[in-house]
Amino acid sequence: MAYDYDDENIFAKILRGEIPNNTVMETEHSLAFHDINPQAPVHVLVVPKGRYVCYDHFALEASDAEIIDFTRTVGQVCKALGVQADAAGDGCRLIANAGVHGVQEVPHLHVHVLGGRMLGRMLA
Ligand code: 5GP
Repeated sequence: MAYDYDDENIFAKILRGEIPNNTVMETEHSLAFHDINPQAPVHVLVVPKGRYVCYDHFALEASDAEIIDFTRTVGQVCKALGVQADAAGDGCRLIANAGVHGVQEVPHLHVHVLGGRMLGRMLA
């Protein structure tokens, strides 16, 4: 079954410039901005600019260029904010909620980058 993208979702409006955002980084195919309701000292959302509902939609249908750009942007955000998991950073958690069971609130793919403090040990 096809993925049904809602052009009126809040991140589509952010990408069209209809709603302001606090941008961390912008590339040809991706935008990273601070979450409006941060759950950690670092809480950034990375979204592809294309019309993708969730991670599986993106992974299955996006172009190689979009996937490479998005993947690298997530890594660059981690490094730019000092939450990369190398010797210089303390690491972070990447989360991509999807669909009903994933309790996804905004139906445009976004990866949460959460860090800046010790996070709880939690998978579900
Ligand atoms: P989800 O539950 O879909 O994985 O997460 C959606 C996230 O989007 C939440 O963390 C929420 O705080 C954030 N969010 C919702 N509306 C806005 C908004 O208008 N601007 C920004 N920057 N973040 C938003």
